[in-house]
Amino acid sequence: MALAVTSSSIAISSSSSSSLRAEQVVQLNTTTFQPSDRAHLVSPTILSLSVKRSVVVKALNPESRRNDAIVTSAATTFAPDVMEKSVEVEDFEKLAKDLENSSPLEIMDKALEKYGNDIAIAFSGAEDVALIEYAHLTGRPYRVFSLDTGRLNPETYKFFDAVEKHYNIRIEYMFPDSVEVQALVRTKGLFSFYEDGHQECCRVRKVRPLRRALKGLRAWITGQRKDQSPGTRSQVPVVQVDPVFEGLDGGSGSLVKWNPVANVAGNDIWNFLRTMDVPVNSLHAQGYVSIGCEPCTRAVLPGQHEREGRWWWEDAKAKECGLHKGNIKEESVNANGNDTLHANASVSDIFNSNDILTLTRPGMENLLKMEGRKDPWIVVLYAPWCQFCQAMEASCVELAEKLGGSGMKVGKFRADGDEKAFAQQELQLGSFPTILFFPKHSSRPIKYSSEKRDVDSLMAFVNALR
Ligand code: SF4
Repeated sequence: MALAVTSSSIAISSSSSSSLRAEQVVQLNTTTFQPSDRAHLVSPTILSLSVKRSVVVKALNPESRRNDAIVTSAATTFAPDVMEKSVEVEDFEKLAKDLENSSPLEIMDKALEKYGNDIAIAFSGAEDVALIEYAHLTGRPYRVFSLDTGRLNPETYKFFDAVEKHYNIRIEYMFPDSVEVQALVRTKGLFSFYEDGHQECCRVRKVRPLRRALKGLRAWITGQRKDQSPGTRSQVPVVQVDPVFEGLDGGSGSLVKWNPVANVAGNDIWNFLRTMDVPVNSLHAQGYVSIGCEPCTRAVLPGQHEREGRWWWEDAKAKECGLHKGNIKEESVNANGNDTLHANASVSDIFNSNDILTLTRPGMENLLKMEGRKDPWIVVLYAPWCQFCQAMEASCVELAEKLGGSGMKVGKFRADGDEKAFAQQELQLGSFPTILFFPKHSSRPIKYSSEKRDVDSLMAFVNALR
């Protein structure tokens, strides 16, 4: 989901997570997300519904308090007489337990009832449209915001429009800061995330606008579900003090996060959307499960995890040995006084099979010449110390066996050490392993770009090209 920028790995202590300050000064910030219609504005004390006993100290000079929450606590002198009185403090852990078996509709109703105009639904343009439907069904006024990163699919923009019309609402779009986007694009180009990861671009286009949006709220509603990522989201409560972001009053504990569909399975969300005849993003019909920015989202096949549809190139990189990593390995060997040849000799070779031909530099140079090529070849550029090369050894040996006698040759070329520069320059080596197909009819080798290195995938590659 496009708004999935929170970190479930950040934890806060239960004392801070379960309480909000009773006295908080509302200071409107012109850069924050402010509603055009504050008709449903509720007092900050609406945050505190259940009653808990709490110790409160009386200020010595309460009249000298400044209208600034931080200065107040820092400058207050306490009187020796500590008096106990009851104040309203919400216990969100208890509330989450109380609501654990409630329906999404009940949870949504409770959230809107409590926070009125100070809460908004974070809508990503995907199946979290269910949240809008639930809010609509409560009959209460509700607000919806979304992050327009400037890189969404046209289908998503059309979907936003359809949702606005269907519910007769205006989505409050948050845009990235134009100066920040300009600086990023002018220095690194439009697709820097393919080169150095998505974090920087996401920070500019998503996280900061989201932070601004939340600074204008006291609570927000997300479509997080436990089944989206069993590892990190299995503990998603239906309501919690937000462990990452700050709300209108600032500081830790100033924002509450509601997850009304935390306990709902993905299939049930879809059943609900179909039953209620809710508009959905047309990208879903094209195989998209998770929907984010256009350059960073792709359709997935049945059975593939939705994570494989997002930032997939970063996953692929994690399955390869970067050349830099290889350098580090060699340098550490060299630092022990061994030369590169010695280092090479110290690791046992891999892809040992009678069906796999070992190529040397002259052999590779010949292969690069079209006129010297009588048969098609598939060649793996490898380094024996690379764990990903080791991991594909069995499938490569099996592939060579299967292709035996077919007229197709299978070769290996050790491309680390002294051969690395040549392989990088002439053989498209970017990381280990690199697999190249040398067709009979073309001078240029074709690189295998998938990270799937099982024998069936490799065979499909070969069959498609020979
Ligand atoms: Fe993040 Fe990609 Fe969107 Fe940039 S384009 S904000 S990297 S998802």
